[in-house]
Amino acid sequence: MAKFIFVTGGVTSSLGKGILAASLGKLLQTRGLKVTIQKFDPYINIDPGTMNPYEHGECYVTEDGAETDLDLGHYERFLGVHTSQANNVTTGKIYQEVINRERRGDYLGKTVQVIPHITDEIKRRILLLGNSEQYDIILTEIGGTVGDIESLPFIEAIRQLKWQLPKEDYLVIHLTLVPYLASAKELKTKPTQHSVKELQSYGVNPHIIVCRTEHPLGNERKKKIAEFCNVDYDSVIEALDAESIYDVPLNIKQEKLDQIVLNKFGYKDVQETELPEWNKFLQRHKYPKKEITIGLIGKYVELKDAYISIYESFVHAGADNECKVNVERIHSEEINKNNVKEKLGHLDGIFVAPGFGQRGMDGKIYTIQYARENNIPFFGICLGMQMAVIEFAKNVLKLEDANSSEMKQKCKNPVIDMMQEQKTIVNMGGTMRLGAYTCHIKENTLAYNIYGSNHISERHRHRYEFNNRYLQDFADHGMVASGINPDSSLVEIMEIPSHKFFIGVQYHPELKSTILKPHPLFCAFVKACLS
Ligand code: GLN
Repeated sequence: MAKFIFVTGGVTSSLGKGILAASLGKLLQTRGLKVTIQKFDPYINIDPGTMNPYEHGECYVTEDGAETDLDLGHYERFLGVHTSQANNVTTGKIYQEVINRERRGDYLGKTVQVIPHITDEIKRRILLLGNSEQYDIILTEIGGTVGDIESLPFIEAIRQLKWQLPKEDYLVIHLTLVPYLASAKELKTKPTQHSVKELQSYGVNPHIIVCRTEHPLGNERKKKIAEFCNVDYDSVIEALDAESIYDVPLNIKQEKLDQIVLNKFGYKDVQETELPEWNKFLQRHKYPKKEITIGLIGKYVELKDAYISIYESFVHAGADNECKVNVERIHSEEINKNNVKEKLGHLDGIFVAPGFGQRGMDGKIYTIQYARENNIPFFGICLGMQMAVIEFAKNVLKLEDANSSEMKQKCKNPVIDMMQEQKTIVNMGGTMRLGAYTCHIKENTLAYNIYGSNHISERHRHRYEFNNRYLQDFADHGMVASGINPDSSLVEIMEIPSHKFFIGVQYHPELKSTILKPHPLFCAFVKACLS
């Protein structure tokens, strides 16, 4: 049986529970332990798949096709291990399961209630990965802030688990804020005390308190927090605002958080380790030798979380190339025929983002035409690839009314069309082509050069595809399909061999780029922009 760490948050949201969990997970992993992280989200949606990016940020897709919270992206990028359907559970999923059981008659005439039925289902889900015997330690992040009505059943489930799990397998970490009052020139511990008190009023005593702070806490304040919150002196951890999220593992290592956790779990023989590869990445990230600017053209550019895996992939690829990658976010609705040069002329490379729907489409087409005609490195993902296909169909093949049937159902030339198996689907949630599929790459292509392999697997999230009826026409005019799914013949990669660097992929490579294994497509794109 695995050991369990629960991470709760107090005082405010956005303190970085996900990064804390990922960083602690990383430290424990480097010490040779097998670690995974799961997130429990208190909202009622079954998953974030149907939520607008403005509402929820990016929807992160796992290998097995779960549409999940973006924190799972941090877990994968930090730990370099895959998560799955089981790693993200919402209130919606819990209730759906319980209600389905009730309809089947499984409760044998009983009244179905939050306690015990909902909390039992939460506990079952929490323990699921632990039963798989794949992991030594499972970190469970509880979304939201302690005191929220929605998260109460999750907190209650954690309380109950204290009595179910062996004492040495159970640990609660509470992340709080210690705000600095500029007028008083003082850090204030009261919100932390209140937040812990709130948690304790539900019967949960945290073992470790991690304090986000703008200024060093100092020993006196740590002592005060320990005494008022009933935790050991060494268990108040300072989490000073970090320059970047990649500093957090090193910062909490300095505070000995991993050692304290291991001590509390009773591990005796786990060696202290350094993080040489992580440090190498940090050095390259912080002290780049070159600099480029890439334009990210999309329609959710106002919100950084909407394309978080893409920005992170550029950080990984930048470090790999010892280059600072400035990503200039440009709203596709602001680009038109007349201003395209003025908007994009200064860029070293052009990236067109994934997305859904018609809004901003024209700007993307003008962008791609500009990149193609001016030999500027171009990289498009999912909708970005589909837009590249439409641009080529319109401007090179001169196909009248070329479009995607997503944007115009009855266009004359649907060069992007709905996948056959999608045509009978009525539900929106969880019904796209999701998760990992294999792709065969043709030799002597840019894609082959980049991957150095014929056989790859990448993750997907889409309903529309390249319409194979047009494949020959495209090839005859200089845009070729260099990657194809061997089972379904769906086009996965399109490229223009005569161009300096022009590639569009139907899948989402950003979901597989990690800090220690940057994605080859992003690395190659950055390299092309550099030359
Ligand atoms: N809207 C397009 C489709 O469903 C692209 C999706 C995406 O970019 N993730 O096929």
